Amino acid sequence: MKMLLDYFQAKQTSILDSIRQIVEIESPSYDTAGNAAVVDWFEAKTREISFDFEVERIAAENLGEHFLVRAFPSSKKPTLLLGHIDTVHPLGTKEKNPTRIEAEKFYGSGIFDMKANCVLILEVLRAFAELKLQPPRPITILLSCDEEIGSPTGRALVEAEAREAELCLVCEPSAGGKVKTGRKGTAGYTLRVHGVPAHAGLEPEKARRQFWKSLAKSNNFIRSTIRKMAQPSISAK
Ligand SMILES: [Zn+2]
Repeated sequence: MKMLLDYFQAKQTSILDSIRQIVEIESPSYDTAGNAAVVDWFEAKTREISFDFEVERIAAENLGEHFLVRAFPSSKKPTLLLGHIDTVHPLGTKEKNPTRIEAEKFYGSGIFDMKANCVLILEVLRAFAELKLQPPRPITILLSCDEEIGSPTGRALVEAEAREAELCLVCEPSAGGKVKTGRKGTAGYTLRVHGVPAHAGLEPEKARRQFWKSLAKSNNFIRSTIRKMAQPSISAK
């Protein structure tokens, strides 16, 4: 442990510099030019490291490319390190929120979610290579380019890689520097409920109660759907 701590402390300046570089390249979802620049950057940085790996750039129509690295091959099932390289911030946000360190905090457009952690994923690979440590199983890194818009093309890729993996670390940021061990899901619904409104005090008999029954049924449906969704078919150890 001490060796790793010393290693990463010695690397602090260069890691901060890498984070600064990648945050300076804005890459909101759908911005294929920004995505290409970010993927170029990750590919070049990965190729700097001398270790056994292969790199793949997977095209996603109108979105850019996903970035995949398979490192330290062996017959064992890999550890999957998951991240995304798209951000929610429109182009030009960096003019309003410049990349900077203030009072020991690093600010920038998309730095928290989640470019800093994408750099850390890469630095983990570098640490294994430079310290000549053999990870207990292969490492697969998948950085998707469409997570912020619901992973229309990345989802299938994530699911396929997760199925092959022994375990998966989703490296999304967490509050307070903690390790995230669970993720929430979100869903959107449009409810159409039919009925006849009436004044509750003056003419309650005119109201069509069907409205409330439909609403209650919808509510039950939503609850049972959410319960089913809370038991995903793919589980991580
Ligand atoms: Zn994120």
